[in-house]
Amino acid sequence: EALAQMLMSAFRKQWLPMQALSSSPGDLSLALQEAGVTTATAHSLAFAEEIRQKSRMRGTLMWAPPRFQIILSIHPPKKRSEVMASQQYLCAGCGTEVEVSEFCKLRYCEYLGGYFCECCHGQAEAVIPGRVLQRWDFSLYPVCNFSKRLLDSVWFLPLFGLSSTSRTLYPRARELDKLRQLVALKKQLGACRLADGVLQEFQQLPSHLTQNPSLLSLDDLLAVKRGLLVPQARALLRAAAAHVDGCELCLANGFICEFCHSQDVIFPFQSERCKRCTECKACFHTDCFRDAGCPRCARIETRRKLMGTSAFAA
Ligand SMILES: [Zn+2]
Ligand SMILES: [Zn+2]
Ligand SMILES: [Zn+2]
Ligand SMILES: [Zn+2]
Repeated sequence: EALAQMLMSAFRKQWLPMQALSSSPGDLSLALQEAGVTTATAHSLAFAEEIRQKSRMRGTLMWAPPRFQIILSIHPPKKRSEVMASQQYLCAGCGTEVEVSEFCKLRYCEYLGGYFCECCHGQAEAVIPGRVLQRWDFSLYPVCNFSKRLLDSVWFLPLFGLSSTSRTLYPRARELDKLRQLVALKKQLGACRLADGVLQEFQQLPSHLTQNPSLLSLDDLLAVKRGLLVPQARALLRAAAAHVDGCELCLANGFICEFCHSQDVIFPFQSERCKRCTECKACFHTDCFRDAGCPRCARIETRRKLMGTSAFAA
């Protein structure tokens, strides 16, 4: 919810004046939808009306200003003349009519996949989210002024999920499993009053990563690409695990595997060696764990039956 509010206020400040009439949520990224961003407001409708009156089109509305939306697709290469025909021979940014002889002066925006006049496109460059998420391509591409501002404003926002179904991205998604472990460790440390020092080290990472590691910002993704994020997560994991190992308070919060009853204290964050019962949440060695027959669940069940019979007897 905090994220949604942050998005909305950033959005209001910067984008409301550019917002378009249409608010079909189909084009918005899923992440934005999840964040609860809605687009249509009375203000934007009034503004769209103003644009309509000011623009040169008579009768039908042929042009609408670009919308604040996260585009995750890559635009297929097309001929300039084709794209201009689909833009009704208008600049995609301001709706100014463009003569065919002037087409060569137009500038392409890789993010919106359209052509823009010199006023709307200052030849800025940006990382394109679709290219990152589909091809792991962090190159800079030319974008119009609108896209530049949009992309700059979302750079640090956790809006993007790495799909593990993509062959290119699967290894990256696997690397990021480390972050999931960090979430569990942070929870564990949160229960220990001696863990403040280690917890402070978690602040090296953007807080959203240790809250919901499935959504990342473009900045996080770039850190992954540069090989910075995963080692940082690993170092944090080591420091935190070292604390837990040496801390009596933390050890008291651990589990003893009820299958083998060894002295080894185990923790939910040790996802490689431990498995949790989905019912009672107790923690067991992965090797010891048998799906049908959690000892703790069995114990709870026996106790409940006993209580039942004693209640019945009374
Ligand atoms: Zn323009
Ligand atoms: Zn501790
Ligand atoms: Zn065991
Ligand atoms: Zn259980």
